[in-house]
Amino acid sequence: MFKLIVANRFSQSSLIQLKKSGLADVSTCENISELKDQWSTCQGLLIRSGVQVTQELLTQMPQLRVIVSATSGFDHIDLKTCGQKNITVMHTPEANAQSAAEHTLGLILATQRNYDRASSQVKSGRWERGALIGEELMGKTLGLIGLGRIGSKVKKMAEAFGLEILVHDPYVEQSLHPNTVFLGFEEVVRKADIVSFHVPLTSETFHMIKASTLEWFHESATLINASRGDVICFSSLLNHLIENPQFRLGLDVYAAEPLDKSSALLDHAQIFFTPHIGATTHQAIARASQEAVEKILHYIQSEKTSDTLPPSALWASKIIR
Ligand code: NAD
Repeated sequence: MFKLIVANRFSQSSLIQLKKSGLADVSTCENISELKDQWSTCQGLLIRSGVQVTQELLTQMPQLRVIVSATSGFDHIDLKTCGQKNITVMHTPEANAQSAAEHTLGLILATQRNYDRASSQVKSGRWERGALIGEELMGKTLGLIGLGRIGSKVKKMAEAFGLEILVHDPYVEQSLHPNTVFLGFEEVVRKADIVSFHVPLTSETFHMIKASTLEWFHESATLINASRGDVICFSSLLNHLIENPQFRLGLDVYAAEPLDKSSALLDHAQIFFTPHIGATTHQAIARASQEAVEKILHYIQSEKTSDTLPPSALWASKIIR
């Protein structure tokens, strides 16, 4: 029978469906290293972003035919080696978009209304509203870098708040987005009060935020990143934070995760942090688990594939991991 390893968080109902199908011999684990003794016979992997599919891991799974990741991102998978070894890779790109977009709005609100300081004030028995004067969103300008699945949803939600939207995305067909203002990256950053990233990690987006591009932000601008940590060069950011005490950030993703507790970023009250929870909702986990299980069952039954990786998008040739 098809030997399948399921690693990381999957919904109970999707696991029950998988086991009931009788199509696979399923082993589940929190951490893939727990099942090292099964690697040599493993034919399929069902994973989330917590599992790093490295060249080293792939070398130790000579029977592996298919990987399904219940995620939209895929930089945890060495796609190049998978391609060389003829391993089919699929993901669930739609399943997390709503949760990730909603979380982005949460980061925007948290940075504009000082939610972390407000909450810790009340918890510590203080009531100093004068220290917590925030900013309304209505009439502010939001720059979106990337107008894919998540960026498009953020745009709709942000429009409902009365934000003016500017977009930079060189790969979308502009005629499919009427009433959208597309500009160059520099122009968007210079004009926006809040800039939010919704791009994949590629050779173009790696360190898109660095010393030279940080100069384009106005001094009290806000940068939001719930895409991938390496979009920001964190050493340049630290200098910028010191020189611009009004500059604010909402971060969900980091160059290295988990963020080290000795990270200098943690010294900056201007940053609102979340621990990569953009897709961490009951609904997104259930949706992604269900889709991933359906994809693996279709594959086992008929080698049918969908949402294969690398994606067919124009930027795919620039993927770096
Ligand atoms: P998507 O592929 O649907 O959209 C990405 C968009 O970025 C595309 O429209 C593409 O044209 C654009 N793009 C590519 N290169 C660009 C460039 N150089 N400049 C500007 N735009 C560029 O992806 P998505 O599903 O919207 O996901 C966006 C990001 O969010 C990904 O990095 C994904 O991994 C991440 N993500 C994070 C979480 C989280 O938990 N924080 C959850 C889901 C997704």
